[in-house]
Amino acid sequence: MTSLQTPSWRVDSGGGAPAGPSPHHLVRESWAAGWALSGGPLGGDRFTAGCLAAQDLAESYPDEHTLIEATLQIAKLEGTWARVFADREDVHTHHGPQVTAAYRALAKATMDVRGEVARFRRAVANAQHADIRTAATAAAVRLVQAAVDPGRPEYRAAVAALRDAISAAVGTGMDAGLLVAGPREAAPPPDPRSDADRNSEAAAALHRIIRGNTTDVANALTRLAAEEAQDDADREDRAAEQADAMVEDVEDATSGDSERASALLGDETIGSSFLDGMVSAFVSIGLRQMAWVTAGDGKVCGTCTTYEDQSPYPAIMVPDTPHPRCRCVIEPA
Ligand SMILES: [Zn+2]
Repeated sequence: MTSLQTPSWRVDSGGGAPAGPSPHHLVRESWAAGWALSGGPLGGDRFTAGCLAAQDLAESYPDEHTLIEATLQIAKLEGTWARVFADREDVHTHHGPQVTAAYRALAKATMDVRGEVARFRRAVANAQHADIRTAATAAAVRLVQAAVDPGRPEYRAAVAALRDAISAAVGTGMDAGLLVAGPREAAPPPDPRSDADRNSEAAAALHRIIRGNTTDVANALTRLAAEEAQDDADREDRAAEQADAMVEDVEDATSGDSERASALLGDETIGSSFLDGMVSAFVSIGLRQMAWVTAGDGKVCGTCTTYEDQSPYPAIMVPDTPHPRCRCVIEPA
C-alpha cells in the first residue's frame, strides 16, 4: 500500500488555474473550507483513502443552489493514496475547465436567449400556463434543448471534451487501481471500449449537462418572474429594462459564469469514469471483490456511508458515483 512507483499513465496538469472566480474555483474554495471545518487530517489509511466530504446539498443537485463541500488536502496524504488522489485531481483540474468552456461555447452558439425570454414573458403576461413555474419550465426546455444539435461543430467539440475527460479519467483510474493493488509488473489494461462506445458515452454525459442546465434555467426564470411580479411599482415603465435584465441573467446561466451544470455534472462524469478504471484494473489482475471507501468522518454523505457499509461488492455491482464532488475510492476487499 505504500508503493511509490511512478504511474505509467499520467495526465498533464498544465491547464493551470482558471483566471478569476469560476465555478471550479469557488468549489475548490468551499472544499477547503469544509475540510478545515471537518477537523483536518484524520491520519491513517482510512483517511488517506477517503472521499471528499460531499454534503447533502451537493447530493441533491440539481435542485439546490448552494454547493458546500470539503476537500482532501493532497499535501497531507502519503504514499500510494497521495499519488492516486493527486493524479485524479489532475484530471479534474485539467479537463473540468475544458468541459465547461466547451459547454458554454455550445450554449452561446445554439440558444436563442433573447427570443425565448421574450416568448416566456408574453406567456406569463397572457397567463398561457397554469403558473409561472410551468411557463418557466417550458421556456427552459425550448431554450436549452436547442443545444442538442449534433450537426454543429460546437456540439461535436463538447462531446470531444467529455470524451477526452472520460478517457483520461478511465486511464488514471486504471493506473490507480494497479498502484493500490500493490507493487506488480502489470501494465494498465487497454480500455476495452470502442471509439463508438466512447463517443456515445460522451454524448450521454453532455445530455446530462444539458438537462441539468435546463433545470437551472427553469429555476432562474421562475425566480426572476416572481421577483418582477412582486416589484409592481412603475412596472409598465420598466418592462423593457426588466426584459433586458432577464436576458442578461439567463445568458449568464447558460453561457456565463453562473452556468454550473457543466462543472458539477462534468465532475461527476470524471469521478465515475475514474472508478470504472479502478474496477477494470482490479478485474484485470484477478480481483473480484471490492470495497467502497469513504473518509469516514462526520461529513461523508449518507449515500456514500451506506455504500461503504454494504461493501464488499462483486466487480459488476460496484455503485456508480452518487453525486458531484464525491472523492470516494474503491479498494480490493
Ligand atoms: Zn463519496
